[in-house]
Amino acid sequence: MQVESTLLFETPEEIFKRVFRLLKPRTPVPAVRVDFRKFANANSSIRLENGRLAVKITDLLEGAPAPILEALAYILLCKLYRKPVPAMYSHRYRLYFNRRDMRTNLHAVRQTRGRKMMTEAQGNYFDLEEIFQELNFRYFFGLMSQPQLGWSRRPSRTTLGHYDPSHNVIVLSSVLDGPGVPRIAVEYVMFHEMLHLRHPAEHRGARRCVHTPEFKRAEKEFDRVEEAKKLLKRI
Ligand SMILES: [Zn+2]
Repeated sequence: MQVESTLLFETPEEIFKRVFRLLKPRTPVPAVRVDFRKFANANSSIRLENGRLAVKITDLLEGAPAPILEALAYILLCKLYRKPVPAMYSHRYRLYFNRRDMRTNLHAVRQTRGRKMMTEAQGNYFDLEEIFQELNFRYFFGLMSQPQLGWSRRPSRTTLGHYDPSHNVIVLSSVLDGPGVPRIAVEYVMFHEMLHLRHPAEHRGARRCVHTPEFKRAEKEFDRVEEAKKLLKRI
C-alpha cells in the first residue's frame, strides 16, 4: 500500500479538501462536512449542497487508516465530477473491504441493521420449502440445512434469485410465483441459490469470485438444465 501521498494527522475533512484541490485545481475549495453514519451496508455518499460538500461515510470506516479515507475521497469526488477514478485508489479501497476483519464487520452490520425484503415461503403457486427439500434430497443427500426461504416483495426480472449469507436467506423473485411458470424453472433458480450455500464466494485479493469454476461444474448436474435455462429466458 502506498502511503506517501497521505500526510499524517489529517482530519477526514482535510483529506477531502486536499483531494478536491488536486482534482479541481482552478476551483476554490468548498467547505466540507464529513459525517459517519450507521448504514446497513458499506455505502457512502457525497453531495454538493449550497456550495458545501456533504459527505456521509459508513461508520465501518470510522477509524480507518488515512490512506483508505483518501481512496474513498478520490472515489466519491471523481464520481461527483464525472472523472474516472484512478485505478490505484479503487483497488486500495476494495482491498481494504476484502480484508477478513472488514468482511466480518460488514457481515455483522448487515445482519443487525438490514431489513428483510421478502414474504413467506408459501407462495400462491409454489411452496419454496417443498422445492428446497425435494432438491435437497435429489442433489445434496438431504444434508443441507434449510436457510430461511421467501419470495421477493417486488417481482424482479433481472434478479430471479438471491442468497444472502448474512441473514442465511434464499429469496426468489415473486415473478416466478405465477400460473404460467413451469416448476422446473423455479427449481433451477432454487438449485442455483442452494449451490451458493454449498460453494461460498472466494476472495482473491481485491476480486470477489462468486461463480467459481467448481460452482459452474456443479450447476451442470441439474437434470434438464438446458430446458430450465430456456424456460427462464421466456419469463
Ligand atoms: Zn449466482
